[in-house]
Parts: sequence; structure tokens; C-alpha cells
Amino acid sequence: MQTKVRCRCGAVTDVSGVSPRLGGVDVYCTVCGTVTNHKIS
Ligand SMILES: [Zn+2]
Repeated sequence: MQTKVRCRCGAVTDVSGVSPRLGGVDVYCTVCGTVTNHKIS
């Protein structure tokens, strides 16, 4: 399982505690404040 996602600003967020969901999960970036959607598989 993928445990890290990269924001469009370049920051990497740890999502190891996030449950994978159909359609991806919304990840909040603590660096730039942007919420990005990621497919985690
Ligand atoms: Zn960001």
C-alpha cells in the first residue's frame, strides 16, 4: 500500500493511517493548505 502522497507544491504527506477509498482520498497539505485527491492502492 502506498503510504505517502506528493502535493502539487512538492510536499509529501504521510497517509499510512488513512483508509483507501473508492475514488481516492482527500489529503490536506499542511504546507500549502491545499486539499488534493489521491488514489491510494
Ligand atoms: Zn502542498
